[in-house]
Amino acid sequence: MTRPLNVAILGATGSIGQQTLDVIDRNPGRLKLFGLTEGRRTSKRAAEHVIQGQAGEPDFDARVTAMVTDPGCDLVVVAIPGARALAPTMAALHAGKEVALATKEVLVMAGALVMKAAGQRGIRPIDSEHSAIWQCLWGEERKSIRRLVITASGGPFWAHPDLDLDQVTVEQALNHPRWSMGPKVTVDSATLMNKGLEVIEAHHLFGVPLAQVSVVIHPQSTVHSVVEFIDGSLKAQLGRPDMRLPIAVALGYPDRLPDAVPPSVLEELGPLEFHPLDEARFPAVGLARGAAKAGRGRPAVLNAANEEAVNAFLAREIPFSGIIRTVEQALEAFPGGGESLEDILEADRWAREFVTVSRGSSSRTVR
Ligand code: MG
Repeated sequence: MTRPLNVAILGATGSIGQQTLDVIDRNPGRLKLFGLTEGRRTSKRAAEHVIQGQAGEPDFDARVTAMVTDPGCDLVVVAIPGARALAPTMAALHAGKEVALATKEVLVMAGALVMKAAGQRGIRPIDSEHSAIWQCLWGEERKSIRRLVITASGGPFWAHPDLDLDQVTVEQALNHPRWSMGPKVTVDSATLMNKGLEVIEAHHLFGVPLAQVSVVIHPQSTVHSVVEFIDGSLKAQLGRPDMRLPIAVALGYPDRLPDAVPPSVLEELGPLEFHPLDEARFPAVGLARGAAKAGRGRPAVLNAANEEAVNAFLAREIPFSGIIRTVEQALEAFPGGGESLEDILEADRWAREFVTVSRGSSSRTVR
């Protein structure tokens, strides 16, 4: 019998981290917890590496690098939110580790560099849509793909076209109809920036041009995404909206882990609807596509400005509709940078400062 796969989790106390622990616990002979990082809360777990703290804190970054490059570590689950996941992801890839990625920001910021570092191994996606596309592509050739179709639940506001997005409260934005996730990604689902980020993520993960990645609204969140092939065939992956499934797919690959989630009964699914995306009401996908096409640090600006604007919204400093406005303003003001890792980190810093400065001036205006 082969030894279990040694798994390190970056962000073990978050939503994805907790569900990853659950998948590991339920597959003892196959998966073993090798190490983890935890933020303010403790996971109460024993492992070879248990690292407390946040990126940027003394010793934290060095200890994380030591864990993800440890010869005993086989696979790193990246589940810390936002831009600070980039450095440890690159460290793990450069050390030849398998990476299962929940943090889409890593690919949005530096997709080309990350995929280059991953090489033939590629990246195992944990994002549910990308897990679906990945599964649809097993055994298929790149040249057979006509289009990737990312499904979107539409978030809490899509079904309410008369709702004034200037008046939406934090509580309303955090009330996602289908998925239970952290606050950042839940707000991103409400603005549909989540789908904008996912279009860029899919483009890098699967090497498919941006123009061949589209978004369709599917309120039931049962079809997790679709691949259209050149012969006209559509392949979709369906299942419960439960993140333990894409986590189990990523950790078990190329095998499937038994009973990752309760079975889906087709007869009980009910009708499945698909609707076009209203890009005028939800401009985030178009904005993301434009930033990715223009490149030169703009995807990093999009990502960082969005992250800061979501924080400002959660702090009740800007209205809901101000999130996308802020991202738009940052992209317009950005002079354009380069494509190296340093350039990308500089674009990230630039965008955060841009939003912080405009937050300061807008709160002065309010007073
Ligand atoms: Mg997703």
